[in-house]
Amino acid sequence: MNIILFGPPGAGKGTQAKFLIEKFKIIQISTGDILREEVKLKTDLGISAKNIMDNGDLVPDEIIMSIVEKRLAEPDCKKGFILDGFPRTLNQALELEKILKVQNSEINKIIFIDVDEDILIERITTRALETSNIREDDNSTILKNRIKIYKKDTKPVLDFYKNMKKLVTVNGMMSIEDVSKAIVKLLWFI
Ligand code: AMP
Repeated sequence: MNIILFGPPGAGKGTQAKFLIEKFKIIQISTGDILREEVKLKTDLGISAKNIMDNGDLVPDEIIMSIVEKRLAEPDCKKGFILDGFPRTLNQALELEKILKVQNSEINKIIFIDVDEDILIERITTRALETSNIREDDNSTILKNRIKIYKKDTKPVLDFYKNMKKLVTVNGMMSIEDVSKAIVKLLWFI
């Protein structure tokens, strides 16, 4: 089972991914987590990505695709994977199709976690206040930029998967547990 967890910043993709990897014993590929690790290790990639991430902008597609291609070639992906925070541009989605075709694999479902914009802002502000390990991209000016970029660059990805009849939508404004339950229901038939 290969799935994409899709949604705006603060929709709860990371939280739901953690639940799903336990439930279905598949792995999570979060491009954001991979990039944060590179930043922490101060690799060349991390150094070039840091400012972009701190501003809430998108890291160039070539960098993201080389990360994803390498990761998808690892044997643990054979059992199934959850993509979290990727693809974020139409170009990334198209490139992903090419990689999977070569591997004789495909995305089974893309799960859109739908959350209203005002709730997103509230959630991320709370996350920034409550977390001791504050993400540098969690303040409200940057959040507004992230939402703007989401609408401009990332939303077209939804239409792409909708046309392929692979898109399912979950109301992301329910409790975390109810969102998890709704996702499990949708995945049961794969
Ligand atoms: P996330 O943890 O998914 O919110 O990602 C944090 C930041 O990493 C984003 O705001 C981007 O700067 C960068 N990033 C993560 N995934 C991608 C992607 N697929 N394409 C471009 N930039 C990304």
